[in-house]
Amino acid sequence: MEVPLNLKNTENARRAAPNMKCLADFVVEKEIGEGSFSTVYHAREKEGEKREIALKVCLKKLILKNKMVTYIHREKEALALLSREENAHPGVVTLFATFQDAESLYFVLSYAKYGDLVSLIQKQPDAKLKVDDARYYAANLLSALEHIHKLGIIHRDVKADNLLVKHDGRILLTDFGSSKFLKDYEKDTNSNESSVPSRRRSFVGTAFFVTPEVLTLYFFLTGNYPFDDLSEYLVFKRIQDVLYRFSDDFPDENARDFIEKVLVKEQKERLTSDQMKRHQFFESMDFENLQEIEPPRIY
Ligand code: ATP
Repeated sequence: MEVPLNLKNTENARRAAPNMKCLADFVVEKEIGEGSFSTVYHAREKEGEKREIALKVCLKKLILKNKMVTYIHREKEALALLSREENAHPGVVTLFATFQDAESLYFVLSYAKYGDLVSLIQKQPDAKLKVDDARYYAANLLSALEHIHKLGIIHRDVKADNLLVKHDGRILLTDFGSSKFLKDYEKDTNSNESSVPSRRRSFVGTAFFVTPEVLTLYFFLTGNYPFDDLSEYLVFKRIQDVLYRFSDDFPDENARDFIEKVLVKEQKERLTSDQMKRHQFFESMDFENLQEIEPPRIY
């Protein structure tokens, strides 16, 4: 797709303040993809390190029309917190800057050359991952989620579509539009429920929030999600009753045991994140030194 003229010819781009970025600071090279109210472009900084970046352009009129203002705010707030130098994690996308003009809001993000993990998985033989590759991605996801939970953020939309693959094969967790700050989540939950289990308050006990990576692990290994069904209602029923099964050719006994110990209805019976990391399935993973492990080459 052609890059629109307003992103190419930026001589009219105005800086809101001297220390703020604007379109004129970037060369927009090509479109990467489209979301429901945003388009993401591959771009490059004109000055300094001349980093490659992803420029997410969100059209204000679409945000308003689709009532996505809160979504955008959440994404910006969560990413701003996670992108502070002291909070940075190698497995989470970085927000370098935001700016706006009359039509659009712009997010300057770290660039993931190979796009999202779901598209890459769909191109693999049988549209699923080898067990070792699944283990690598699941361990990195677990580490990223543990990190954001420690900073008080829950993602709430963890899936392979929201994991991006960088030039070096490492993954980045992205799309924080559905995320919530734990303190707000607890406030909301407290107003709906009389007693909130205290386990939720520290990450070590927040098994409640970590089941998504188990669903993702199941997806990595099979190409399907465990609660798949014909309609949203049926999927919902399955989740409520924790009704899922493993096909006869499910590839790994340890992965199966891991999933069975996390996908259980009773929160207090689920593995905590520390127990997950110590599970046999992750025996070969050194969680302290994940950055030293060579990533799979599935691209
Ligand atoms: P929706 O907004 O409907 O949930 P989405 O999350 O895919 O969809 P965007 O975030 O706008 O929407 O992303 C559009 C496309 O750009 C996706 O295919 C995504 O994989 C890709 N993309 C998003 N961020 C980056 C990035 N930082 N680096 C590389 N590609 C990216």
